[in-house]
Amino acid sequence: MKYSEYSVVVVGSGAAGLYAALKISQQMNLPDGLLIITKSSLGESNSRYAQGGIVGVVHQNTADSVESHVIDTLKAGAGLSDRKTVEYISQASDEVINDLINCGVEFDKNSKGDLNFTLEAAHSVKRILHSGGDATGRGITDALCHAVLSDDTISIAEQSMAVELLVNAENECKGVILYNELTGEHEIVYTSALILATGGCGQLYKFTTNPDGATGDGLALAYNAGAELQDMEFIQFHPTALALSPKNKNRFLISEAVRGEGAKLINHEGTEFMSHYSDKRELAPRDVVTRAIYSEMNKEHSTNVFLNASMISGMKLFERFPTISRKCRENGIDISHTPIPVAPAAHYTMGGIKATVEGCTNIKGLYAIGECSCTGLHGANRLASNSLLECVVCAYELADYLSFANLTIPHKIDESIKNIINIYSSPISEEDYDIESLKQHLKELMWDYAGIVRNEKDLLKAKLEIDRLKSEFMRDKKCLNKDEYEYRNMLTISSLIVECALARKESRGAHCRSDYSATNLNAIHSNIIKYEEKELSYVV
Ligand SMILES: Cc1cc2nc3c(=O)[nH]c(=O)nc-3n(C[C@H](O)[C@H](O)[C@H](O)COP(=O)(O)OP(=O)(O)OC[C@H]3O[C@@H](n4cnc5c(N)ncnc54)[C@H](O)[C@@H]3O)c2cc1C
Repeated sequence: MKYSEYSVVVVGSGAAGLYAALKISQQMNLPDGLLIITKSSLGESNSRYAQGGIVGVVHQNTADSVESHVIDTLKAGAGLSDRKTVEYISQASDEVINDLINCGVEFDKNSKGDLNFTLEAAHSVKRILHSGGDATGRGITDALCHAVLSDDTISIAEQSMAVELLVNAENECKGVILYNELTGEHEIVYTSALILATGGCGQLYKFTTNPDGATGDGLALAYNAGAELQDMEFIQFHPTALALSPKNKNRFLISEAVRGEGAKLINHEGTEFMSHYSDKRELAPRDVVTRAIYSEMNKEHSTNVFLNASMISGMKLFERFPTISRKCRENGIDISHTPIPVAPAAHYTMGGIKATVEGCTNIKGLYAIGECSCTGLHGANRLASNSLLECVVCAYELADYLSFANLTIPHKIDESIKNIINIYSSPISEEDYDIESLKQHLKELMWDYAGIVRNEKDLLKAKLEIDRLKSEFMRDKKCLNKDEYEYRNMLTISSLIVECALARKESRGAHCRSDYSATNLNAIHSNIIKYEEKELSYVV
């Protein structure tokens, strides 16, 4: 097999991967360079589609404080966030956001030329920075892509998918196997620092706001290599995704900033309903609004409710939400007059690879940052706009951490790694799978039985069916193409979500069980799951 060597390898080119690559290259001497491996084109990621903004607890905003942001984040996390992590990330926000600005990210300003902070649900003050109105992700990724492309130390492998981590018997990561979609070949990349920035797994569900690539690859790779995963039961379902028809599965997000500006949710009779569910109404935390909509949809046997933004002036709507207004208009909806059909969709993976704020995992040389990691920031529910903040703060801290590490390329490869390489250099059966149908079936299963409201009976049904699907798909290692790899990874992560959801016998944050509807203060604190043990371990 073809092989190459790099001082550092970053897998993924969303906000976390791009910013980590840039900061590492700026801070370190990299004799063998840095490689970004990314599944499609550079910058194509969940990050690119982020709308509302990024939390900025910065000195420019005198109305805000770290303490206030910490309190809001802990409240949203429903008792499961790690206070130290929350404090750390909030404190680092000022330095990192200002560094992002220096790297070329342009946040929107007010008429006086000062940063423009807005409010989002469950934040107690205006602290959200945005770019291009409602195109914050594009603003951040475009600026970072530009900086990365101008950096000679950074090489880029596009249309390349990481498919297996090379971890030796001493639990050290020495590199990665990638599948090059353009040549159809597998290649080995050796490195002393392998950074997973592969994002979440929204594509495990029938309806999602996530683009096609969010299939949980990094989570599956890390799990199969012996990394600890934490809190996989916590999947955030965004309340308001554009629901044009039940057939439209990848759904465009209608940011909660629209509700922040005053838009109201109404049912098919035109009645506002949020006051029946929360005194915070439309600005209640995401999980509360999601379940309220789910309940209204069930009552009305409908596939959506509506978001009425007609009380906001048309001019303001277009200026503040140009992307949303345009997308709706393309679909025949003038949001200044017509209510927008909306329904919940899988949006964010709170759990992930257990990691410190510097990205360290339980495997030496393997780091995880951004949505694929679980640092303890989000707990049982993510506060809006905290995820982009986590991406950039952890990328920044990881660069700092690595600048003190001794990075030497591994020349000695042990038997365990040779065995992995053998598997990927040997032929496999050409058996034909209808992957598109298999993926759809799995996504429907997860939506119906491990979705917004769960119970033991449904979760067990899902478990049984996933086991059957696994036994029928004879590819647990090498596959024939990208789709097969994605399906392999989706099966792995689906079963972890179901296992963890079964183990958490309570309702908390985004995890809602109709058979255990109360929050149990004595419940397990964290579900930590690791491959070699093949069972969950609990931290109480
Ligand atoms: C529509 C939408 C709106 C959002 N709005 C906001 C918001 O306003 N504020 C906020 O804070 N958060 C928001 N979020 C969440 C936030 O965007 C994400 O959590 C965050 O961008 C994740 O960044 P990341 O770099 O960790 O992963 P991603 O941005 O998802 O990037 C992952 C990268 O890894 C690559 N990849 C994956 N698997 C492999 C593999 N096997 N091999 C090679 N490459 C791989 C992907 O191609 C991609 O480039 C939103 C999310 C969505 C979907």
